[in-house]
Amino acid sequence: MSELKKVYLDNAATTRIAKEVLDEMYEYSLNNVGNASSLHTDGRNARKILEEKRQLIANKINAESDEIIFTSGGTESDNLAVKGIARANKEKGNHIITSTIEHPGIMNTFKALQKEGFEVSYVNVDKYGLIKLDELESLITEKTILVSIMHANNEIGTIQDIEKIGKLCRDNDVLFHTDAVQSFTKVPIDVKEQYIDAASFSSHKIHGPKGVGALFLRKGVKLDKLFNGGAHEFRKRPGTENVEGVIGFAKAVDLVTCDDLERMKDLRNKLIKGLLEIVEDKTEVWLNGHPTERLPNNAHISFMHIEGESILLNLDFKGIRISTGSACSSKSLTSSHVLLATGLKPEQAHGSLRLSLSKYTTIEEIDYTIEKVREVVEQLRNISPMVKNK
Ligand SMILES: *Cc1c(COP(=O)(O)O)cnc(C)c1O
Repeated sequence: MSELKKVYLDNAATTRIAKEVLDEMYEYSLNNVGNASSLHTDGRNARKILEEKRQLIANKINAESDEIIFTSGGTESDNLAVKGIARANKEKGNHIITSTIEHPGIMNTFKALQKEGFEVSYVNVDKYGLIKLDELESLITEKTILVSIMHANNEIGTIQDIEKIGKLCRDNDVLFHTDAVQSFTKVPIDVKEQYIDAASFSSHKIHGPKGVGALFLRKGVKLDKLFNGGAHEFRKRPGTENVEGVIGFAKAVDLVTCDDLERMKDLRNKLIKGLLEIVEDKTEVWLNGHPTERLPNNAHISFMHIEGESILLNLDFKGIRISTGSACSSKSLTSSHVLLATGLKPEQAHGSLRLSLSKYTTIEEIDYTIEKVREVVEQLRNISPMVKNK
């Protein structure tokens, strides 16, 4: 097989900005100048476009357009939702609940609120990364005001049954936030049918520009803002509106097709199958996350007795970009909190790889990747003293 120059399989970390997205942002920026808060023609024009895009994004999740607050991305939306809702509702109670597998955007926000005096509970997950619903139910008390559980996990790709979680929260008069950054446009979201009170979204995970995202906040839910400033975004998020960014974000949403998702999922299945065949002893290689309830672009595999970082760097040398665990935890050598939460021991978590596809991934790239991972894994296992049957 001819050597490919570059194969990008780290789309859970960030995605290539689509040319159609860039074109629309460029076209707008070249021809428009207005601040969406200005009263003159240029300002009103910017406002009109901003509101059209807000409606488009609202439609995608069955929300109303005034329930969409534009932010700088997933992390800000997570902070605004969780801190904003917790602080605004603390007269009702000071107890908040999250899971053991959240993105740092949620995990560290909960830690900060704990220092502020909130009481935090963590609901556990099973070996597939699905949260234990009965445990969640038993954690809810009179004092509970907010539950935040991610829709799809950024490391192992597991998709939660958020309708069940949302219903449980609604029945108990507890607000429900979900970090939907990874699932947005890949898994259906209906904020009404799924009983969602708040949800976080980010543009750069779906081929849009970086530095823009949104928070869905159901009408009537009380929220303290994080920043002080003007009256932008329904008085909930001040700062001059990022019209170019929002145009790009909305275009990225508009570009998503079912055909692309299906094709991506087929390639992902081929990738998983190919990777699991690399090691014969099936106790020494496995798929992490849920076999079916998983993001259509996520493959997460563990190989025993070798280091994920060694595999990553060897593949990088061959032009293949992947991740161990998640981009945020890969700089520290401690095991991923997500893998440990699913019950893996540190020595089982070390040799883990996350490969995440996009609609641009080709079958040639998948074949090339399987071949190269095989070469690297065989080489590393050959020199590993722990491997018994070589
Ligand atoms: C990427 C990601 C975020 C952070 O989004 P940014 O726009 O990069 O701040 C939050 N949550 C999840 C699940 C993510 O994958």
